[in-house]
Amino acid sequence: MGETEDERTAQAGQLFETFVQATTCKGTLQAFSILCRQMDLDPLDYTHFYSRLKAAISSWKVKSLWTKLDKRAGQKVYNHGEACQGTKCLIVGGGPCGLRTAIELALLGCKVVVIEKRDTFSRNNVLHLWPYTIHDLRALGAKNFYGKFCAGSLDHISIRQLQLMLIKVCLILGVEIHVNVEFVELLEPREDQSDSPGWRVAIRPSDHPVTEIDFDVVIGADGRKNTLDGFSRKEFRGKLAIAITANFVNRNTTAEASVEEISGVAFIFNQKFFLDLKEETGIDLENIVYYKDNTHYFVMTAKKQSLLDKGVILNDHMETERLLHRDNIDNEALRSYAREAADFGTNYQLPSLDYAVNSYDQPDVTMFDFTSMYASENAALLREKHGRQVLVALVGDSLLEPFWPMGTGCARGFLAAFDTAWMVRGWTQGRSPLDVLAERESLYRLLPQTTTENINKHFEQYSIEPSTRYPNLNSSVIRPHQVRHLLMNGQEH
Ligand code: FAD
Repeated sequence: MGETEDERTAQAGQLFETFVQATTCKGTLQAFSILCRQMDLDPLDYTHFYSRLKAAISSWKVKSLWTKLDKRAGQKVYNHGEACQGTKCLIVGGGPCGLRTAIELALLGCKVVVIEKRDTFSRNNVLHLWPYTIHDLRALGAKNFYGKFCAGSLDHISIRQLQLMLIKVCLILGVEIHVNVEFVELLEPREDQSDSPGWRVAIRPSDHPVTEIDFDVVIGADGRKNTLDGFSRKEFRGKLAIAITANFVNRNTTAEASVEEISGVAFIFNQKFFLDLKEETGIDLENIVYYKDNTHYFVMTAKKQSLLDKGVILNDHMETERLLHRDNIDNEALRSYAREAADFGTNYQLPSLDYAVNSYDQPDVTMFDFTSMYASENAALLREKHGRQVLVALVGDSLLEPFWPMGTGCARGFLAAFDTAWMVRGWTQGRSPLDVLAERESLYRLLPQTTTENINKHFEQYSIEPSTRYPNLNSSVIRPHQVRHLLMNGQEH
């Protein structure tokens, strides 16, 4: 009997380790489903899932992960996972910000469903992490999932690795994840009987079980092309800005390891570098960043004339869409351009600059326009129809687009994820909708101004409660009467 028990414990530990070590989205979901089946755990039983999983997996290796997650889950705001018990939340999009929001809502005790239209995590591009995000991810067990996480002075991570670790934490906390499921639209309740369907969603595939769930909260985390209605976007238009991202294979040799990163040089700070680059290669840049991660990742802003001169852009056009249209780009010239810039930027020290491949099996180099950056006018709204309410909110790039060369997307994105979870908590606990929305909009006004310098430096104090993160907070800049238009009672449809 004792032996069988030991064997079972060892098998459980092994299955969990396979899940922890999985390196793809599909592999993670598969390992998780095998783990649940073999250990007789019901992943839909979201209120008990984490404690049952913890009881089933007791290998020494996993203890430090449980300690970390228990510490987070023990924060007072979650009220032992009962603060929002029974609240049903849908998150549209499994990018870093959607997944980070899902974790907070799960800790609050919500039933959380994430739908993601793809089934791969394939973005090699690298995000800059602010010190608080490193602290936050470590506290969620980042090192347990990815041993190399921010080793030494590293302060970045590939989007792919970030999604992988966050999806694992989500699954452990009982979040339902559905891949290959695309959000189409939010559907109003049709009748006012209490037993008739409430706020539901139309998705692809249309017969998916998620269509049967009545949601209390819907959160758009689907990236820059937000698909939820009710959020008009404001545009910040600068002068023409053409960005190039490029990823090269990192073979982790000693020679590669000794090459210094460029954590961001801009023309205004180092004119000599850019003038030398132009003189030597004809490449004219406004800034460049190089991070050594799973790949050698470069992001740079290039001047149009040099792209024309180097034959990357074939014909000049006034409209950026035509200028950067696929047919107007010479891909081979683009690859050479980015490689030459990378070579010069690293003082020709990277031994071989072979392109990593992207999800289409093509060399991973992209050129795109970011002359305009978008932000949503508002962060949340409340819809009501036939006496049923649904709280709708945006997080991540859907809410506020980041400036890629600074990689602020995830740093500001996580702050908004916490603020959103705080709003859900307030609303669920019966605060007046207008108060909750006014507070959310007040916090949103702060978001574009947040920097590593002006947020609270005591990261161990961080929780979803805004005052733990923003010093000198005034959460009533926007007054309740100013957000009346965010209470939508169906008349406007
Ligand atoms: P995203 O990471 O964009 O995730 C949105 C998710 O929603 C995606 O997984 C998408 O598949 C899914 N989705 C979209 N529509 C639907 C739908 N209808 N139904 C269901 N799911 C849907 N930032 C940088 O700082 N530097 C970079 O080099 C950089 N490169 C990037 C490259 C690409 C291709 C993209 C898309 C973004 C890049 N970003 C970069 C932005 C950065 O990834 C984000 O700031 C960061 O990931 C946080 O964003 P997010 O979670 O809000 O959205």
